[in-house]
Amino acid sequence: MAVTRTFSIIKPDATRRNLTGAVTKMLEDAGLRVIASKRIQMTREQAEGFYAVHKERPFFGDLVTFMTSGPVVVQVLEGEDAVARNRKVMGATNPSDAEEGTIRKTYAESIEANSVHGSDSEENAATEIDFFFDKDEIVG
Ligand code: ATP
Ligand code: MG
Repeated sequence: MAVTRTFSIIKPDATRRNLTGAVTKMLEDAGLRVIASKRIQMTREQAEGFYAVHKERPFFGDLVTFMTSGPVVVQVLEGEDAVARNRKVMGATNPSDAEEGTIRKTYAESIEANSVHGSDSEENAATEIDFFFDKDEIVG
């Protein structure tokens, strides 16, 4: 299987509980390599732009408020079949539906405060990586 890239966010509920290392370890143990990483405070404009596909959903306003409620860690991950591999270790959106051993089952607080984001396709991964990283920030 080909080595590909995906985009990850460690969300404010996880950074607030000092889980950046614990979440990253689960990503690494799943066969993903962090090839770029930075801790940022998202602006409202950034969060609205990033989640624009959800702008008609009833939870959009709350989601933007949550994603700007504290620092996040944005990461580029690389590995074999990275998008699917990352989605598998993340677990279902709602932690009560997530499998044992996944990040969301282990750490998520709620369907909204669910600790991590991961791209859902290679195409979206490329767009999301470009949204947060300059080429020279991805060092391998
Ligand atoms: P992500 O895009 O963050 O990786 P996902 O692909 O599993 O998660 P999406 O359906 O894309 O889930 O929703 C994006 C995010 O919006 C979710 O991760 C969660 O934080 C929030 N969200 C989704 N559904 C709900 C809901 N019903 N109520 C509140 N928040 C929600
Ligand atoms: Mg999604």
